[in-house]
Amino acid sequence: MLRSIKAKILSIYIFLIFLISFIAIISILNLYSLNKAIDGLIASNYKSIVAATYMIDAVERQDSNELIYLEVDRDKGVRAFNDNQREFYTWLSRAKDNITEAGEDEIIQRISRDYSRYVDYFSKLQEIKNTRSPGEATVFYDNEISPIFHSVKSSCRELLTLNETAMFNSKEKANVNSKNQMYGTIVISALSILLGLTVAFYFTRKIVDPIYMLISGARSIQEGNLSQRIDVSTKDEIGELASEFNSMTMRLSQYEKSNIKNLIFEKNKSLAIVKSISDPIIVTDNDFRITLVNKSAENILDISESEVVGRHFLESINNRNIFKEIKDVIDGKENNDHTDIITLMVSNKPRHFMITVTSILNDDNNINGTVTVLQDITHLKEVEQIKSDFVTTASHELRTPLTSIIMGTRLLLDNVSGDLNDDQKEIVQAIDEDGNQLMSLVNDLLDLSRIESGRMQMDFRRTSIYDVIEACVRPLLDIAENRGIVLFHEVPQDLPPVYIDSNKIKYILNNLITNALKFTDSGGVIKISARTEGDTMKVSVKDTGIGIPEEYHSAIFDKFTQVKSSANKGGSGLGLAIAKEYIKKHDGDIWVESEPGHGSNFVFTLPLYRG
Ligand code: ADP
Repeated sequence: MLRSIKAKILSIYIFLIFLISFIAIISILNLYSLNKAIDGLIASNYKSIVAATYMIDAVERQDSNELIYLEVDRDKGVRAFNDNQREFYTWLSRAKDNITEAGEDEIIQRISRDYSRYVDYFSKLQEIKNTRSPGEATVFYDNEISPIFHSVKSSCRELLTLNETAMFNSKEKANVNSKNQMYGTIVISALSILLGLTVAFYFTRKIVDPIYMLISGARSIQEGNLSQRIDVSTKDEIGELASEFNSMTMRLSQYEKSNIKNLIFEKNKSLAIVKSISDPIIVTDNDFRITLVNKSAENILDISESEVVGRHFLESINNRNIFKEIKDVIDGKENNDHTDIITLMVSNKPRHFMITVTSILNDDNNINGTVTVLQDITHLKEVEQIKSDFVTTASHELRTPLTSIIMGTRLLLDNVSGDLNDDQKEIVQAIDEDGNQLMSLVNDLLDLSRIESGRMQMDFRRTSIYDVIEACVRPLLDIAENRGIVLFHEVPQDLPPVYIDSNKIKYILNNLITNALKFTDSGGVIKISARTEGDTMKVSVKDTGIGIPEEYHSAIFDKFTQVKSSANKGGSGLGLAIAKEYIKKHDGDIWVESEPGHGSNFVFTLPLYRG
């Protein structure tokens, strides 16, 4: 059995070389036999023809010698006769040695017999001439010798003709032979070519077919068909490659199976974790179809997983607040990890949840779905409510005595109960300032607790932002001027109207401008501007003051947060927190852009009025 491709290819070549050699040998043999046939033809027949010709010449000369003997010179005749006799026998013996044709032997025997009689008769002729009359010798010659002479001569001619005919026939035979051999060679060559082609095709296919099978197997694997096996049974290099290929695909499919197993295990693990979490969890895809809810979500939202999975969020959980949070994340309006607080009615009681919507990102960082976690913060809310109630009550209780204190200091400073000396005036003034500061803190606290408890009433109206800004800036121009600060606004009068609670916005603007005045040195500039952006009005209060470090940019909007480095200018740290709450009520946003030493720019957005 041929095991390797090398051996197979080598055997094809050897076979073809053998075939070529076979044809060459046949052709050489044919040529050789043809050559031999022609050779035989020339050699054998030609010798006999020459012998016959010389014998005729010799006997004819002997005939003349006899006549010389009779008529001219006896001795000369006898001598010449004997010479020619020797020559005749020489050629006769050559003819005898070269018998090749049928009937040739008989002719030669006949010549031999007749010629020996002819020689005997010449002896008799001599005897007659010597013993009898010359006339009798002549008669003997005419009657006895001459017929034998003619008989010998005609036999020699017969020998000549026989060999000539044979030579001619041999030539014909050689012609036929050469033709036959030519046809034979053609047939053998054709058969050999056919055989060679068949063997070459057969072996080439045997080598190439497994390669094609390997190629199609590799393609199939490329398309993901890992169960693909290649059925190559040869024991050569391709067979080895196929068996390596098969074990590779087997290992690949085992690897894939184990990967799938791992994936399923990991999925079940995650599922178990999600299911066991006590906070309600809802998972949706990009089309807002629910893909998973846990036990807690089933209880809180009064749904059953089997009924809601695969259905649109709003079809199964009719809560627009949660839906809006999810939609904002999927639409990219909110961060990938967005948090807010919502209230749900659970068993007819309000429960507060911190809702966190986290997007599920795919490999390309595109959103593929969301995970919504609802964290029950009802208890915290209740504690906060208690705190807020306490602050409200305390603030309320503080306001009346504070009002009396401030009124009392006013009366004293207005010298209603007599003149105060300078020391007394200073003390009363300090009491008045602190009282006012305390009053504004109490007011801020009251406002904040009202907002947080939802008791803050909003009075939205169609308003001109120009009027609001103008009303805020005008009373502060003197204070700015006294401090050497340029305060101005560049708000066009024809801006589209906004839909706002103007008192709340005035509070915000007032807080921002007084802050700017507090934190800007003499020679600084405070500029207020407003412009529309999309469907909002963007208002900004920009100063050239001390600026705010980046780590405080979001913290300063929390309650009681003040920048450490900024000198205590007597604030409460509540103004921006209240501003943020007010802006939220307007569905807007507030932020600061600032760098220490390069001033601050407070920006907030307000809704435009829509008919
Ligand atoms: P306060 O009553 O303390 O001003 P706010 O909430 O209005 O309370 O401000 C919080 C803090 O933010 C301030 O104490 C101050 O540190 C910082 N801040 C506010 N506005 C500016 C400003 N324009 N320039 C620099 N810092 C400011």
